[in-house]
Amino acid sequence: MAVRLEFLTQDPEEIALATRYWAMDEDGVYLEKVSELVPFREITQSGLIAKHARTFCQAFDENQACNKCEGPILVTSRTDAKKQFQRSEAPCEACSGALRQEELERRRAAEIELQKQLTSRIDYMRTVSISYADLTDDQRFILLAIDALITPRLAHSTFTEGSCEALAPWEGTSYLTRLFRAGVIWDDPEAARSGTYYLHDGKLQAITSSLQFFLPPDELLGRGAEALETVTERQFTDPEVMTNLWLDYAVGDVLRYLLDQCRVYNHDLDYEDIEKIKATIRFGLHTYSVSQLWFVMWKVVRDAASLANREYYNRQKAAATIPNKIRKQIEWADKQGGIDRCWDRPEHHIAGSVGMAFLTLFEIDEFTGGKQALAKFAQLSAKASTEEVQGVASNFMQGALSRNVSLWAMEQFAGLIRAGFDTNGALDELVRLNPETFSVAIS
Ligand SMILES: [Zn+2]
Repeated sequence: MAVRLEFLTQDPEEIALATRYWAMDEDGVYLEKVSELVPFREITQSGLIAKHARTFCQAFDENQACNKCEGPILVTSRTDAKKQFQRSEAPCEACSGALRQEELERRRAAEIELQKQLTSRIDYMRTVSISYADLTDDQRFILLAIDALITPRLAHSTFTEGSCEALAPWEGTSYLTRLFRAGVIWDDPEAARSGTYYLHDGKLQAITSSLQFFLPPDELLGRGAEALETVTERQFTDPEVMTNLWLDYAVGDVLRYLLDQCRVYNHDLDYEDIEKIKATIRFGLHTYSVSQLWFVMWKVVRDAASLANREYYNRQKAAATIPNKIRKQIEWADKQGGIDRCWDRPEHHIAGSVGMAFLTLFEIDEFTGGKQALAKFAQLSAKASTEEVQGVASNFMQGALSRNVSLWAMEQFAGLIRAGFDTNGALDELVRLNPETFSVAIS
C-alpha cells in the first residue's frame, strides 16, 4: 500500500473504516467503492466519508516525496493520492510549517530593522537645518511658488508631492523633486503614514507619493513665517539660474500644449521625440513667446493628422515627422520675420504657481516675447550692481561734504569720467588714489 496511515483514535470501528477507505491493490486501485462504506454510524452519504475519516486518521502518500525533506505528503481524499512515484510541487505539512515560521521570523527581523533605521532617520531629521542665505535664486523662487500653493504649511508643517502638482502645467512636481535632491526640502518619517517607508536590500526606501516633505529650519533664524520671509522677499540677482528656470518652465508650458494636442489626434511621441522637441522649443523661446509656439504646435499636429490619412502613411509614421516639422516651422519663422499668430491658454491648461510667480515678480507670461523675457533676467545683475554703486556714491558724497572738499571731489570725478572711466570705475579709482580723504566715509 502506497498510503501510510496514522491513527488518532483507538476505536476499532473507526480504524477499520479508515483502513477500508484507503485499501488499494499493488496498482493503486482502491479495493472497495466509497459507497460500500456507508452507512457508518450516523453517516449515510458516501461523500462525507473522507471528511469524517480525516478526523481520526492521517494518510501519507508514499508515492509523493516532499521537495524539501523527501518525506511523504499528507493526502485528504482518494483523488489526492498518486498511482506513480513523483516529487510533490508543494512541501510537506511539516516543511510548510517550518517555512512559514522562517518567513514570519524574517519579516519580524525586517520590521525591527526598518523601525531601527526609521528611528535614526527621525532623530536626524530633528536636528537637520540649512542655510536660507545660501539658497540659490531658482531654489528661492520655487519655494516662493510652493508657499503660494500650501500657505502656511511650508513655514510650519509638512506637505505631500500631490499638493505641488499645480506648480506648473507640465510635471509640476518636478520642481519639488529639484529641491528635494538639492537637500533644500527633506522628508519627515514621523509625519508619514505607516507603510510609506520600507527596506530594499537593507536600505531605507519610500513610496514618494506618500512622503511628507518639509522645509528644515534655517541654521540661524530657525523655522516659521519670519524666517521664510527672508527667503521669499530677498531680491533675485542671478540672471543665469533665473533664465534657466524660466526656460524650463516655458518649455513645459509649450510641451503640455503639444501633448494635449497629440492626445486629441492620437499621435504617440516617444521619449526621444520629446527630448528632441524640448531642445527645439528651448531654442525657439529665445525669440518667441510661449503662445506663439502654441500656434506652431497646433499647426504641426494638425499637419501630421492630415498626413496620417494619406495613402502610404500611417499614424506612427506621421507622428514621427512632428519633431522635425517643429524645427522647420521655427527656422522658417526666423527667416520670414517671425510668427504672426498666437493662441490663448486653453481653459484646462493652468499656468501654475511658478507661472504666476513669474507674472507677479517679472511681469512675464505666455504672451511675453522670448527676447523681452530673457532681457528681464539679464537686467538682474545690472540692477544688483546699480544698487551697490548707489551705496558707494552716497558714501563718497557724504565724505566730500563732511571734509568740505566738494568742488575738488567733483573735479576729480569729472576728470576720471573724461578719461574713460564709467561711474562705478571712477568712484573706485578715487577711493584708491585718495584713501585718507575717503577712507572713513567709504570703507
Ligand atoms: Zn518535508
